[in-house]
Amino acid sequence: MNDYSISTNCIQAGYEPQNGEPRVLPIYQSTTYKYDTCDQVGKLFDLEEDGFFYSRLANPTADAVEKKIAILEGGVGALCTSSGQAATTIALLNICSAGDHILASLSIYGGSTNLIGVTMKRMGIDVTFIDPDASIEELQKEIKENTKCVFAETVSNPTLVVCDIEKMAKLAHQNGIPLIVDNTFATPINCRPIEYGADIVVHSTSKYMDGHAIALGGVIVDSGNFNWNSKKFPGLSEPDESYHGMVYAKDCGRAAYITKARVQIMRDLGATPAPMNAFLLNVGLETLHLRVERHCQNALEVAKWLESHDKVTWVNYPGLESNKYHALAQKYMPKGVCGVVSFGVKGGRATAAKLMEKLKLAAIVVHVADVRTSVLHPASTTHRQLTDDQLKQAGVEPELIRMSVGIEDIHDIINDLKQAFDQI
Ligand SMILES: *Cc1c(COP(=O)(O)O)cnc(C)c1O
Repeated sequence: MNDYSISTNCIQAGYEPQNGEPRVLPIYQSTTYKYDTCDQVGKLFDLEEDGFFYSRLANPTADAVEKKIAILEGGVGALCTSSGQAATTIALLNICSAGDHILASLSIYGGSTNLIGVTMKRMGIDVTFIDPDASIEELQKEIKENTKCVFAETVSNPTLVVCDIEKMAKLAHQNGIPLIVDNTFATPINCRPIEYGADIVVHSTSKYMDGHAIALGGVIVDSGNFNWNSKKFPGLSEPDESYHGMVYAKDCGRAAYITKARVQIMRDLGATPAPMNAFLLNVGLETLHLRVERHCQNALEVAKWLESHDKVTWVNYPGLESNKYHALAQKYMPKGVCGVVSFGVKGGRATAAKLMEKLKLAAIVVHVADVRTSVLHPASTTHRQLTDDQLKQAGVEPELIRMSVGIEDIHDIINDLKQAFDQI
């Protein structure tokens, strides 16, 4: 850790060039690293010395980015992955095996719902999806003997539910298990979940962290605060025979979880980021603080404009005072929430599609959270196989438009909306 502010760390943390070295973090496009003696390589394998030996486990470009993100989130270490999905997979498999159970919020990204509810279920890991707004007493009833973690999103994609992080952390900790949160939409600029008790933070860096829609990626950050030396976590508290009998919770200090994630789970699953993608992510991070601020300003303007429009039936944005999650957003992310706003238009599914086709600046894309304003109509794209009734059950109204507000000039974004609304 250092004393610089988060803005300075977005730019400078993680890479400290020595005399005569490149000013900018280089792309270490190498799978492997050269040593003079077998003994030195042996020491690396035994984790007796720090160093690189194979890029599936660690690469200098990714390493610098990991250090930067760990500082941004206030953790003791981080592990970059090839995608956000890989980050969630590794974060969960690091502590869950067949026979275990996960308590997950209902309001999470669809990819995470499938990962946990379909693929992990097939691997023998059980899940209960819970209403994140339920009281801690109600949630406590859903905890089982074999529950190994609580999983939630700080601001959910796409429903924009704001998580009561302290409540979830309390629930987890009173049961001796960690809270894992996905902080993709809020980013550490708006919210640092570790300060409210989260133990592990994951991100899809493909969104705001990269910010330009150019590179898929993910990251796991370890707070270093959870005590893994417990019977509930034999993978950390008992010797790992596949790693020379290492006991992560004893031998790795506060970095137990993130060390195991790297040397065991990443070793075995291999969802490593390419050095080029790590480099691109680092360039994105250099402006994260500026971009996020502008995304939030623009999104709030758009949300207010939509709220006052007579062809709009409802607007969902936690930055609006009328929003159900406004108080939680003020508490956990007072600087801003995110750049994503969703709203409904009069006339339902067909009018929503028409409005979107009339937009000129805002493009129809599946991605969110990059510099360019974009829109998505779930009912006619990602959720098109569902009937209107099924859509409502999934919390997706047929007329819902999700707008990812970019960082273009706000007047141009609003004028684009205006001309499109005038045509429907
Ligand atoms: C996109 C997203 C993911 C998945 O990330 P990928 O990089 O697309 O694999 C996970 N969580 C959230 C909140 C997301 O928005």
